[in-house]
Amino acid sequence: MGEAWTLAIGSSGMGLAMLSSQGLILQVNQSFADCLGRDVETLQHLRLWDLVLPMDREQRAREVTERLARRKGAATIRVLCLHAEGHVIEMRWTIADCLIGEAEHGLIVQAVACEAKHHRVLDFVHTHVGIKDRQGRYLYVNRSLQVALQTLTGQHSILGLRDRDILPPPWSETIRRLDEEAFRSDTSLFHEEHFPCIGGGERIYLTERLIDRSEAQEPCLVCISCDVTALKEASAHLARSEEHFRLLAENSGDVVFLLDLEGYVRWVSPSLTRALGWRPEEWIGQKGTDFILTHGLDSGYQLKLRDLHKGAEAVIARDQILASDGTIHWAETHASPFFNSSGCMEGYVGHFHMVDAVVATETQLRQSEERYRLLAENARDVIWTMEPNGDISYISPSIYELRGFTPEEAAAQPREQIHPRDSLARSEAYFAQLLADVAAGRQPEPFRSELEYYCKDGSTIWTDVIALPVLDADGRLVKLLGTSRDITERKRYEQKLSLVNQQLHTLATTDELTHISNRRHLESLINAAFSRSDRYGEPVSLVLCDIDFFKAVNDHYGHQAGDHVLIEFSRRIASNLRAGDEFARWGGEEFMILLSHTGAGTAYPVAEKLCRIIAETPFPDVGTVTASFGVAERQPGELLDSWIQRVDEALYASKEAGRNAVTMAADVGMPSLSCPPGDRGNGTAAPPAARRGG
Ligand code: GH3
Ligand code: MG
Ligand code: MG
Repeated sequence: MGEAWTLAIGSSGMGLAMLSSQGLILQVNQSFADCLGRDVETLQHLRLWDLVLPMDREQRAREVTERLARRKGAATIRVLCLHAEGHVIEMRWTIADCLIGEAEHGLIVQAVACEAKHHRVLDFVHTHVGIKDRQGRYLYVNRSLQVALQTLTGQHSILGLRDRDILPPPWSETIRRLDEEAFRSDTSLFHEEHFPCIGGGERIYLTERLIDRSEAQEPCLVCISCDVTALKEASAHLARSEEHFRLLAENSGDVVFLLDLEGYVRWVSPSLTRALGWRPEEWIGQKGTDFILTHGLDSGYQLKLRDLHKGAEAVIARDQILASDGTIHWAETHASPFFNSSGCMEGYVGHFHMVDAVVATETQLRQSEERYRLLAENARDVIWTMEPNGDISYISPSIYELRGFTPEEAAAQPREQIHPRDSLARSEAYFAQLLADVAAGRQPEPFRSELEYYCKDGSTIWTDVIALPVLDADGRLVKLLGTSRDITERKRYEQKLSLVNQQLHTLATTDELTHISNRRHLESLINAAFSRSDRYGEPVSLVLCDIDFFKAVNDHYGHQAGDHVLIEFSRRIASNLRAGDEFARWGGEEFMILLSHTGAGTAYPVAEKLCRIIAETPFPDVGTVTASFGVAERQPGELLDSWIQRVDEALYASKEAGRNAVTMAADVGMPSLSCPPGDRGNGTAAPPAARRGG
């Protein structure tokens, strides 16, 4: 080979190699070596097909030797070669026959690295790219896969090797299965692969396997993997924190929600169902205003949203929210804007909880305050407070209705102008007792009494007063809290009632004509006296009298004149009895006198005196009227009937004796003895019974 040739090859920008008739590289220039990343020296004396990837080598060797044998002119082939750095490059070789010696034919090869750019691009990505043939041998690995496998296996190049040659069985077996599956399927196949790494851990790759049938005669498997270890860890972390968030949201009594900038619900926690009966999906995509009772654009809800939009950090609002069953509830919401990673506001995040009970309590409290104020202002009762020094510090306006004074006038009155004497004394006594109790550390009693008040017009009214002492924590009197209720009407009614009762009593116990006691009333008094005499042995006597010939009075002077006699008769007897003596019309013109603590010795002269009084003074219109009397002292152990019978018999005896007479009843079993009063002169003569009694 001439020097000129050598020079020409060496300086050519195109890769050139000269082969011997055996296919050995006789000479190669720098450009050729550069395509393969090698030195010129390392290429010399290699066979051309040694540069080709193992799986192509056989075929390429055949093609080259055939060409050497036949010398059929130039041809261009594409070959995959192994780059010195372990990856594959594709070269276009144009092989032409040439004379290399006197009679020796060789080949001259022009080499162009084609699509080098594609391979380069792949060499600069972190993604692992590998191509395997049907037998699982690596046809191509990009730089990052090369580095990874080299690091893992220590192999300088894994081209032509299979996974089972370089990886431990569990991994290689899994990979082989996946490769098989990929070859069987038509679509690409994703799988997560776990690879051991130097530190003893493992890295996770998401691998896509796809079959390339385009140019290769045999289909090959392209595996594109990317390391998702960090991603996996991050997503696991995210999942964990999402789980925390979810648990928090689901288990908190609060309902957590996200709104977008337009106010649409983007997410809401399942606790919504517990709170309001809605399922989250019923809210998602709806506007808050669909569930919240708002009143136009100026409603609290809309204003709060606007506040948030304008940059408020957080808002707290109370709204009425619709539950799925149509009822309306109070909710308290805390909301804040949330921002994405680039700092733009994306919406609002918030949580709310039901505050029905709180609102109800507050409303109740407010209403009851209003109620009490209304009561105090409008009740007919007067509500008042008194300070420990006795000053009135409050009087409700109803005092005007009650007493005619304004509250101011009433509060300024001295006490003597408030109550008449009795009521004043009672109220002052209570107040003095109250101060004494408080000073001594005793629990004071409340006051309850009926008090009379002066009115502005000079009249008085009666009130039912209740007053409660209010003490502080140390037991000191803070004030006296009182109400005064008008009971004037009641008082009047009570008075009327007692009058009516009195009248009824009188009616029931009084004789209509004579206005002295009637028989029934006297009978009850006789019964009582009879019991007393039984129990204490008290002496007790009865005097029975009957007007003589009264029928004749009626007959001569008329019934009315008879009535007047009855009235005058009663008056005379009544006015001559002692207090404590009871006198009643026993029936018709018959009268009974009950003399308590009186024995026959005293009763008899009483009867005589009465007998005289009747007979001595003529009655108007009718002249002299006389009456007959019977007297009986109850005897020890005597029955009531017997006693009354004896006095009746004594009266009868007086009639028998000629009338206008007094008869002492006989002792039981003895005849009675009567005597007209006139016969006894000055009355010194003792009646027989008295005489008998000593
Ligand atoms: P004696 O002396 O026996 O008692 O004769 P007397 O006429 O009083 O007795 P008698 O029983 O025969 O008559 C009683 C009369 O009293 C008959 C009756 O009309 C009359 N009388 C009874 N109650 C009243 C009354 O309320 N008014 C009047 N005017 N008369 C009465
Ligand atoms: Mg009579
Ligand atoms: Mg009679």
